[in-house]
Amino acid sequence: MSDSPTLLQRLGHELANLLWPAQCLVCGSGNESLHGSVCERCWGKLLPAPAVVLPKPIDRLAVAYAYDDTLRTLIHQFKFNQTPGLAAPLAQRFSDRLDGMGFVFFDSILVPVPAHPARLRERGYNPAELLTKELAALLELPFDPRIASRLHHNPHQSSLPDEARKRSLKDSFHVTPPPEDYSETTRLVLVDDVVHSGRTIGQLARAARKAGWKQIDAVCLCA
Ligand SMILES: [Zn+2]
Repeated sequence: MSDSPTLLQRLGHELANLLWPAQCLVCGSGNESLHGSVCERCWGKLLPAPAVVLPKPIDRLAVAYAYDDTLRTLIHQFKFNQTPGLAAPLAQRFSDRLDGMGFVFFDSILVPVPAHPARLRERGYNPAELLTKELAALLELPFDPRIASRLHHNPHQSSLPDEARKRSLKDSFHVTPPPEDYSETTRLVLVDDVVHSGRTIGQLARAARKAGWKQIDAVCLCA
């Protein structure tokens, strides 16, 4: 079954927005003032991320939040229900939390974990890219989604057993070498919305290292 909404579903969604006033995407409350389609109470429920093992060869990894019910609902809306507008409020919380964790970006270029072209066509946007773009704007850092691309179409990662997931990730990414004016102190910061085993982002980091990037960090919205 396809994850992307049909035209009828999209029309239904728009019609619902016209007929009923906006409700919080998480709790459904219509009485609270909303910030980016979510009420302050739900935003306030976000929890710190559990410890995540650092995938090699990433130098520093910062994960902002736990992938709990609130974020699961929001990420699902963001990825599958055609709500790209969630990128800005999510990036704001992401940035606030990284700042609170004391994560310093230094001289960095932000690069989203790329989506495969087929997935991009199906969805119309790469959620990680939208999130990265908003995050880069908040941090006033450069953002370049052309640096990394995905080579093979992977089945949905979360539905695969570990070994199959490992196999499907083999040689999945292409990363362009650093530009000629590259300073070795420039950090490539890989950005993703959800990190599960860390294998995907680790694979991307290995491709980046092979391409010649020396300093590689990763920041993820949740785990
Ligand atoms: Zn709410």
